Amino acid sequence: MTWPHSCIRPHELLADHTSFRIGGPAEWFAEPSTLEELVDVLRAASRLGLPVSVIGGGTNTLAADRGIRGVVIHLGREFRTITDLSHPDEPMATVVCGASLLTQRLVYLAAKHGWGDLELLAGLPGQLGGAVAMNAQGIGQFVQQVSLVGFDGTVRQLTREQLRFRYRFAELEPGIVTEVILRFPKVPPAEAYERIRRALQYRNTTQEIRLPSAGCAFKNPPGTGAGRLIDQAGLKGARIGDAQISLRHANFIVNLGHATCDDVLSLMEYAQCRVHSEFNVHLEPEVRVVGEQWCR
Ligand SMILES: Cc1cc2nc3c(=O)[nH]c(=O)nc-3n(C[C@H](O)[C@H](O)[C@H](O)COP(=O)(O)OP(=O)(O)OC[C@H]3O[C@@H](n4cnc5c(N)ncnc54)[C@H](O)[C@@H]3O)c2cc1C
Repeated sequence: MTWPHSCIRPHELLADHTSFRIGGPAEWFAEPSTLEELVDVLRAASRLGLPVSVIGGGTNTLAADRGIRGVVIHLGREFRTITDLSHPDEPMATVVCGASLLTQRLVYLAAKHGWGDLELLAGLPGQLGGAVAMNAQGIGQFVQQVSLVGFDGTVRQLTREQLRFRYRFAELEPGIVTEVILRFPKVPPAEAYERIRRALQYRNTTQEIRLPSAGCAFKNPPGTGAGRLIDQAGLKGARIGDAQISLRHANFIVNLGHATCDDVLSLMEYAQCRVHSEFNVHLEPEVRVVGEQWCR
């Protein structure tokens, strides 16, 4: 099959696009550089009956070893724009961001310009579109508006009132976030910088950042930490293949070199079973699994 779009290539290895370094090929991998190109690709995929999925920084994604059928959309660098709309005298900053903007670029600019409260996102890997889709670190509280292209190619704007954010979850219609408007209080840049510096220091001492992972494997159950339960079940260091429960943070599963998606899923199931039998608590995955094997 040939596509009229130069932004599409076949059999792109998803291991190259995920922080876990795991994943087989995407049947088609599209990196549109404009909204028009994105809409065009989505309409073509819909005509061809191909399933569509979306990946941002791939830092919360576990991709199947056998890969993903259909078209995987990865917004191009052209969606990394950021514009500050606010007047210097206003107490609040309003910024318009492209969805493939790196979340850490936003944090860097927050330290520089004095955008307050963004220390919440300090050290959070991935892109802004992915962060909004995951409501990572409660980013939803800053979101004023989201531009979203439905998988059928229709473009719409969703206002704050139309959006629902829950713990590590955003209730969005199926589609691709292309732009986000965020609003936060302004603070003196030195204060923003210091708050971000401290948040980064805390993250670096508590999280597993040396080995490939997708961050926390499970959501925290009400009133407790998933990592604490996994640790108390004696599972730190437990290993299946090259997937291991981190010795540093029990809610992180790390790839020791050649872990497969199957290894990680088996280890997640093992942790779920052990925590359930010891504490009668069900651990819900936080990491999103995409591709052929996601039926567990
Ligand atoms: C070392 C490490 C530490 C982490 N620490 C934290 C933490 O402290 N707190 C936290 O909340 N998370 C954490 N994470 C998880 C992850 O970084 C966040 O969830 C991040 O915001 C995901 O962004 P991403 O672009 O990588 O998303 P991806 O993994 O690419 O995608 C995640 C989900 O969002 C969807 N998506 C991505 N882009 C778009 C888009 N443009 N439009 C619509 N849907 C989209 C995908 O389809 C998928 O369902 C950590 C991960 C790692 C590796």
